[in-house]
Amino acid sequence: MNPEPKKKLESPAQKVDWSDFRDHIATADRDGRRKWMYPRKVSGRFFRWRTWFSWLLLAIMFAGPFITIHGNPLLLLNIVERKFVVLGQIFWPQDMIIFAIAALVGLTGIVVFTAAFGRVWCGWACPQTVMMEMVFRKIEYFIEGDAHQQRALNKAPWAAGKVLKKLSKHIIFYALSFLVGNVLLSYIIGWQALYQIITDPPARHLTGLSFMIGFSLLFYGIFARFREQACTFICPYGRFQSVLLDENSIVVAYDHKRGEKRGPLKREQKFGERRYAGLGDCVACNQCVAVCPTGIDIRDGTQMECVHCTACMDACDNVMEKVGNPRGLIRYASLNGIERGEKLRITPRLIGYSVVLVALMSLLAVLVFTRSDVEATVLRAPGSLFQQMPDGHFSNLYTVRIVNKTSRELPVALRLESPAGSLQVMGGTLVVPPQKLLENSLLVELDPAALKSGTTPLVIGVYAGGEKIQTLKTAFIGPRH
Ligand code: SF4
Ligand code: SF4
Repeated sequence: MNPEPKKKLESPAQKVDWSDFRDHIATADRDGRRKWMYPRKVSGRFFRWRTWFSWLLLAIMFAGPFITIHGNPLLLLNIVERKFVVLGQIFWPQDMIIFAIAALVGLTGIVVFTAAFGRVWCGWACPQTVMMEMVFRKIEYFIEGDAHQQRALNKAPWAAGKVLKKLSKHIIFYALSFLVGNVLLSYIIGWQALYQIITDPPARHLTGLSFMIGFSLLFYGIFARFREQACTFICPYGRFQSVLLDENSIVVAYDHKRGEKRGPLKREQKFGERRYAGLGDCVACNQCVAVCPTGIDIRDGTQMECVHCTACMDACDNVMEKVGNPRGLIRYASLNGIERGEKLRITPRLIGYSVVLVALMSLLAVLVFTRSDVEATVLRAPGSLFQQMPDGHFSNLYTVRIVNKTSRELPVALRLESPAGSLQVMGGTLVVPPQKLLENSLLVELDPAALKSGTTPLVIGVYAGGEKIQTLKTAFIGPRH
């Protein structure tokens, strides 16, 4: 007897409602394969403003490594040498608390800003969007044409014209990625060091060169292939949206009250007649979907994939102008703004976030402005024990590290303040070069009468310009008695 055929079990996770936009992503087909996006070229006032703004940002990014303030770079994040410069101010590892508070300020700022204005950052200033939409996408349009031409080119057989277009596009993409990689590297090691590497024979910097080629390939992969997937799958910010936004947040939104019920505009049909027929202003032209780089339909509401690039706003404004209706069917608005006509509301949540932000900013300001110009630390030399001198005194060897955060040379003197004894700086006087760290050895000698059993607390004064600038505390190891 044949066994009964087994019923194919379908797990609930496999059930996808393809009519519900929340149940699937726009960039994958029913087999889970990537759907390549062909967003149409967009034009309009927001695109114009974003273009100007992106030029400004790109100019700052490319010129940044060459801009100096008081001889220091605008921004340098040298993780290898643990040297950080922000707006010409040098920060040392000793200033990590300032960096930690600055990171908290940045995070809270993002929360406040997102709660009030949604993902404005993503659309206008995020390097991924700026580079993708304002640089790489424009090059693609220039070489391969608008969306329908790109589609046709991808379907076409590999003839000479297609090879030439694809090859030139990918060579330019890689060259640009290499350039971007070098610019980012100059924010890490400084442009002078980068220039040295570039002008030296490549064989002397094989490791660095391999890293650079690797990074360039990564950037190339992101802008040539990965594209909007970086925003949808990698960037955590988009996912924070659901907890940060509420009905008062300003987002790119479709005015469903004005737009619904959507339906095509019939020839010679007046808008009054549409209203009478129960139709809204949306003429169902799908232009807002055609220009969306993430492939979503903003008419479904705020979605995680939306990077607030404003392309749908421009596309819809153009349609509204053509059909003689006011612009702004898709616009920056909050849900309450659309449903109740409310302007930006300062909610208790926004006030709470802002209070925390102001408190953190105040703390940061205090830390930055009260930051000492000199910072010294003293540690016993590793592995060293006490020694007894011929005159019966005991000695300990220490290492002192002094960071000079000023832009001038700083002579520093160290004095043993307690207990009585002698302190000798190896190699004579300490002169710390501007914005450098100086490391030196110290020998402290104490009379046996001043010693406690085992360890004796030691106080050393740090003096600069005749003034005491810091007190160091450490321990002197002696014999137990
Ligand atoms: S572009 Fe405007 S009119 Fe056209 S479908 Fe989108 S919302 Fe409707
Ligand atoms: S929905 Fe509009 S704003 Fe959002 S990503 Fe698409 S085109 Fe840009």
